Amino acid sequence: MAWAAEEQKRALLPPLASGEEIWCQLFSEPAGGSDLAGLRTRATPADDGSGDWIVSGQKIWTSGAQHSQWGLLITRTDVDVPKHKGLTMFFLRMDCPGVEIRPIRQANGQSGFNEVYFTDVRIPDAQRLGAVGQGGRCRSPP
Ligand SMILES: Cc1cc2nc3c(=O)[nH]c(=O)nc-3n(C[C@H](O)[C@H](O)[C@H](O)COP(=O)(O)OP(=O)(O)OC[C@H]3O[C@@H](n4cnc5c(N)ncnc54)[C@H](O)[C@@H]3O)c2cc1C
Repeated sequence: MAWAAEEQKRALLPPLASGEEIWCQLFSEPAGGSDLAGLRTRATPADDGSGDWIVSGQKIWTSGAQHSQWGLLITRTDVDVPKHKGLTMFFLRMDCPGVEIRPIRQANGQSGFNEVYFTDVRIPDAQRLGAVGQGGRCRSPP
């Protein structure tokens, strides 16, 4: 709501607010829970000059991923800077090629959470939120 381009807000926020489209938060990972900056899911620039990003890695504890049309995704784009400075935020369709959702079966038999795997998922640069390396800031308003 705070960081997308105006035309993206106009297109995406009404169906989010009405519940017509559901979003999930793709933040936590096996190596990045409380210490979010420990996350390892990588986004690297595509080598075809398209400006797209290629994402590979794994998220966990993603509430409602199996019901979501969209996901808010934080990735590592730079491994050569202090870890909290190398993060970049994107949004993506959950039915993108390369996205695999695996529900976690709880003791009560329900599956509120999921593992989400990314294998060479292509995300347009237009779906980046905030500046490259500033992804940690996008969890709160500018
Ligand atoms: C109901 C629920 C829904 C969730 N939904 C989502 C979701 O939709 N998307 C998503 O991305 N994540 C989600 N999460 C994950 C959540 O937001 C946290 O990322 C996650 O619970 C914390 O990471 P962890 O489980 O790896 O625990 P750890 O980070 O491994 O922490 C384990 C324990 O160590 C303690 N600890 C950690 N670091 C320190 C420290 N430096 N000093 C002292 N103690 C410390 C913690 O307080 C905790 O008690 C959900 C969690 C819950 C419970």
